[in-house]
Amino acid sequence: MSENNEKITTCPYCGAKLKHPYWAHVQEKHPEEYQKKQTWLKLFEDYRSMGMDVDISLQVIGELFNVEPEEVRFFLEQNNIL
Ligand SMILES: [Zn+2]
Repeated sequence: MSENNEKITTCPYCGAKLKHPYWAHVQEKHPEEYQKKQTWLKLFEDYRSMGMDVDISLQVIGELFNVEPEEVRFFLEQNNIL
């Protein structure tokens, strides 16, 4: 499982290894994506297709965008992804 956990700290846009806080990298290097919640939909589908659990996917997206996982869940539910 440790190898899977390593992937969580990789930037989904440029593949950079990320350190806490993950969102700081996305905000600085990918400001357009950072603004768009639509990005969450694609990321979630990407993570799910990689076999990641729903809860872990929500947590990772939350960490990338500095929001609570529940906010990610709410947005995905609104978009009929969850
Ligand atoms: Zn990046």
